[in-house]
Order: sequence, then structure tokens, then C-alpha cells
Amino acid sequence: MERTLSIVKPDGVKKNIIGQVISRFEAAGLKVTGLKMVRLTKAEAERFYAVHKERPFFGSLTEFMSSGPVVPMVISGGDAVKKVRDIMGATDFKKAAPGTIRKDFADSIEANIVHGSDAAETAAFEIAYFFNALETF
Ligand code: AMP
Repeated sequence: MERTLSIVKPDGVKKNIIGQVISRFEAAGLKVTGLKMVRLTKAEAERFYAVHKERPFFGSLTEFMSSGPVVPMVISGGDAVKKVRDIMGATDFKKAAPGTIRKDFADSIEANIVHGSDAAETAAFEIAYFFNALETF
């Protein structure tokens, strides 16, 4: 059993596809074990994406991630980190495989609907960023 953090980003919330994102994880046998809706401040988005602070897209990404409500969720199951990443598709929607969330819904490399932790260690930090012990199951 592994846990990962996924986030429906502001563009996914605006497109009204929170349920479709969750359905794809559930259809793959994964379970939602934590779920909330929050709006990040710019500073909170900057702390979440601190690993990217030297990248040229850092300002724009954190602006975007704080532009509206997001839906962070804990996703659990065997091989959850990789399964969620496979279901999301490549970061750049143009390179994403058919049938992935980003191929079907994303508009740009930045507004790409969904986030998923890239490793189990990253997931531990990211889950703790949004959820306390009483909020995950
Ligand atoms: P990651 O930590 O890999 O999820 O990357 C963080 C997010 O930054 C991605 O999901 C995109 O929204 C955004 N991003 C990654 N690469 C680029 C890029 N070259 N230009 C703009 N945004 C990007």
C-alpha cells in the first residue's frame, strides 16, 4: 500500500471535472483517503513548489496555483505514485498519451488540470502540507 498526493488544479475546478478526475483514480482501483477544497495564497503555493524556485516558470506557476480553489486529495493503493502519474499523463499535454487526464482536458503545460507526487518521499511532504493526521484514513 502506497500513498500519494494529487491536486485538481484551478483549471480543473473551473472546468467542473473534479468528479471525472476522481473517477479515473477510482476506476484504476485506487482509493481516496483524504479530500478537501482550499484556496492557496501565493506564499503557500511558493512553499508547496519550493523545489522549483529557480525555474523560469516558478512565478507564473505559483500565480496560477493561487488563482482559484484547488482540490488536494490523498490517493492510496498498490503502486499509487506511479499509477496516478500514468493516469494523469505527461506534464506537457501535447506529449501525454491518449486516454490520460491531461491529454483529454489540459490547455497548456502549466494549466494541466492535475498534480501528482513524483515519488513516495515527495508524497509524504506533500500530504502533510495539506492534511493533518485526523484528515487522512
Ligand atoms: P511537477 O512538480 O513536475 O508537477 O511540475 C510542477 C508544475 O509546473 C507542472 O505540473 C506544470 O503545471 C508546471 N510546469 C512544469 N514545467 C513547466 C514549463 N516548462 N512551463 C510552465 N509550467 C511548467
